[in-house]
Amino acid sequence: MSKTSIFTKAVHAGLDSTENHGSLSMPVYNASVYAFANADEAAEIHNEIKPGFYYGRIGNPTTAALEKAIAELENAGEGLAFASGMAAISAAILTNVKTGESLVAPRSGYSTTQHLLSFLRSEFRVETIFVDAADASAYEAAAKNNTKLFLIETPSNPILQITDLAAVADSAKRLGIVTLADNTFATPFNQRPLDLGIDIVAHSATKYIGGHSDLTAGLLAGRADLMEAARQKGARLFGGNIAPQVAWLALRGIRTFALRMERHNSNAYALANMLESDGRVKKVYYPGLASHQNHEIAKRQMSPGFGGMISFDLGTLERGRSFVNSVKLCALATSLGGVESIVQHSASMTHATLSPEERKAAGIGDGLIRFSVGVEDLEDIRSDIRSALDAIEP
Ligand SMILES: *Cc1c(COP(=O)(O)O)cnc(C)c1O
Repeated sequence: MSKTSIFTKAVHAGLDSTENHGSLSMPVYNASVYAFANADEAAEIHNEIKPGFYYGRIGNPTTAALEKAIAELENAGEGLAFASGMAAISAAILTNVKTGESLVAPRSGYSTTQHLLSFLRSEFRVETIFVDAADASAYEAAAKNNTKLFLIETPSNPILQITDLAAVADSAKRLGIVTLADNTFATPFNQRPLDLGIDIVAHSATKYIGGHSDLTAGLLAGRADLMEAARQKGARLFGGNIAPQVAWLALRGIRTFALRMERHNSNAYALANMLESDGRVKKVYYPGLASHQNHEIAKRQMSPGFGGMISFDLGTLERGRSFVNSVKLCALATSLGGVESIVQHSASMTHATLSPEERKAAGIGDGLIRFSVGVEDLEDIRSDIRSALDAIEP
């Protein structure tokens, strides 16, 4: 059976129908301890000479199926599952960068990743050099002798900045630097960074992979040797392992993942165009719009679509607040990637602790709305957005 289409891959990923009595749904192994047949087997499995399971933090059959699934979707050697996106990202960073070394990262990106990087700088002397990631050559220009990692987030949270993955991967290879790309927004439906030369992909599976706003999980996928290093250090030592029940939910999410993404893509594309043609909206950030700063790069590295995330600026804090107070179908909430449409006002939520000047430096306007476009009927979402725009005081 050919599984080259991502629609087919998503339905079957990670499942071996010759195991588990042919069960088409991976069973949940509620087990933290596994018995050995004898001392020889105990020694072999425990020392990872022979494959097998022995302790919950180190591995679980349900978790292993999810890891296999993300590896198949991202065309990776291996996958690794964690309790959250941040557990995955921190494991990947700390496996590749030590005290006294540095990494290069985007100036604007997911807020908790940014907080992690300043924590690592102040508490562990791991330095981050921040760059304008819209310009891929900024990574190489910023690299120092002690730089070990290039961190990329494309499209970025929340302003959908696009970084040229192939260009950053090329310079990293020349310099012997590992590349880590947060693929949460695009998902492997729209973008496969490993195919473009990136070493490790990270996901908050809390978002599109899970897809139903009912779990917290993180994933890494990449070259087998890098995944093995992350497994031995970031996963085993820090212990952010995913619960088997949650791994099962994430696998369940993956089954319909391609179908959902197709709808997220088409709804978001239509709504981005509608927002851009509305005079009350100051600016729209969506990589699928010709007006996007890096639309040409997005077209090259994202296919078939540009994802379900849009940001748009209503100009002022008051107008942003008024808009999120006026939506009815869309939920006012802080996450993204679920089946339901969600809006958030960055300046009063995720980026409230920053000063207006710091927000400006990160490219986040006071009237910025982050819009996670759901899979509801397009006309229903459209009319909710129109009514909320109508309700804003001029
Ligand atoms: C949500 C998110 C994360 C963090 O994931 P958690 O599952 O919340 O830990 C990382 N990167 C991006 C782009 C995200 O949107």
